[in-house]
Amino acid sequence: MNQQHQDLIDRDRKVTFHASSHLRDFAHGNAPGRVITGGQGITIRDKDGREFIDGFAGLYCVNIGYGRTEVAEAIYQQALELSYYHTYVGHSNEPQIALSEKIIELAGPGMSKVYYGLGGSDANETQLKIVRYYNNVLGRPQKKKVISRQRGYHGSGLATGSLTGLKAFHDQFDLPLEGILHTEAPYYYHRGAEQQGMSEREFSAHCAARLEEMILAEGPDTVAAFIGEPVLGTGGIVPPPEGYWEAIQAVLNRYDILLIADEVVCGFGRIGADFGSHHYAIKPDLMTVAKGLTSAYQPLSGVIVGDRVWQVLEQGTGEYGPIGHGWTYSGHALGCAAALANLEIIAREKLTENAAETGAYLQRAMADAFGDHPIVGDVRGVGMLAALEFSANPEKREHFDPGLKVGARISAAALEENLIARAMPQGDILGFAPPLIATRDQVDEIVARTRRAVDRVT
Ligand code: PLP
Repeated sequence: MNQQHQDLIDRDRKVTFHASSHLRDFAHGNAPGRVITGGQGITIRDKDGREFIDGFAGLYCVNIGYGRTEVAEAIYQQALELSYYHTYVGHSNEPQIALSEKIIELAGPGMSKVYYGLGGSDANETQLKIVRYYNNVLGRPQKKKVISRQRGYHGSGLATGSLTGLKAFHDQFDLPLEGILHTEAPYYYHRGAEQQGMSEREFSAHCAARLEEMILAEGPDTVAAFIGEPVLGTGGIVPPPEGYWEAIQAVLNRYDILLIADEVVCGFGRIGADFGSHHYAIKPDLMTVAKGLTSAYQPLSGVIVGDRVWQVLEQGTGEYGPIGHGWTYSGHALGCAAALANLEIIAREKLTENAAETGAYLQRAMADAFGDHPIVGDVRGVGMLAALEFSANPEKREHFDPGLKVGARISAAALEENLIARAMPQGDILGFAPPLIATRDQVDEIVARTRRAVDRVT
């Protein structure tokens, strides 16, 4: 590492608190740091000038790739014209209006309005407030509980961290908050001993039955909403088993429970459809979007409100006056301008179609390279989302001793191969979510480097 890079990291250690990090080790020089200085296409570069293929598109968000002049220009022009004005009490800006029209058009029938935030967590916070408001207006104040899933990821605030179903996000924070429950994850590979003989469809029916049991145990008149990612993301990149969403929606409809589709990862092309909901025939009442909305050129998220909920929100303000909710930066002009330029690129370069086609190629290439590998238990994914799950004994689906940190070590070995592949936070799982611009040759390179990384550790 060159001296300039080392100096920057040393300065960083003194003053910065990093997400999901071992705070003491980093602050005291016992965990590595890296300063990223540039990015082009699917590649990023650090202060040493070393280049890495970004196999995870940042945090599955840089979908159009790095260094797109067109988006930079759009942000620049908008900043000259109008950098910001608030969007309270009917104020708007031109990019916000055009973006809302575009999002509603893409989201499809039944979707009515968009409320903007800055990231997935604050958007899901808005969702929780909408759900409460909705049931208060409807005169059923007891209907407030929200069911999420084990291994779901919906953010890391107090309420959204409660929705998240990962232990590390709860421990020492006294979470989850009351009224937020977690049902079984649709994780076919991890099905329990009693579900061994089940087909995917049977396992989906089992998950739906578990959800229904929970609703009945809590009392259906106390359960307001269910939230789920079309494909479990941070919890392990787990596509749903066959028939899952159909079975879940049948239960929710039976008890008048709202469905929130958290599209933060899937939205805008990642799995080869505009939304994960379209791919899996999910009919949500509310949708959460972020990440791919701007490909992270600006922070921006959105809550897409369906007609059914919107009618009640309107009724509520008729009764109680203006809604008591708002962020200073909602509908930020620079974020909306970046999003419009990003969505224009996705459409023009047919990146959603590429995610379907090159994504299918990625799935095949991973299966070919790792299907029979002695430490790979599961190869899975959909579109440009893929995962390898490592196992001490693939036939018996035995886990490695967590102390061996196999997933983290393979991710570190990938880095040695100049590839970023993410060790997912729970379990020995290596995640892939390349930018949607990736070509077949680049996919081959990702798979080849991964193969070398896995072999280094085996
Ligand atoms: N929802 C999902 C599905 C996510 O994957 C994430 C982040 O990874 C979030 C919500 C939270 O988004 P943010 O980190 O922008 O707050």
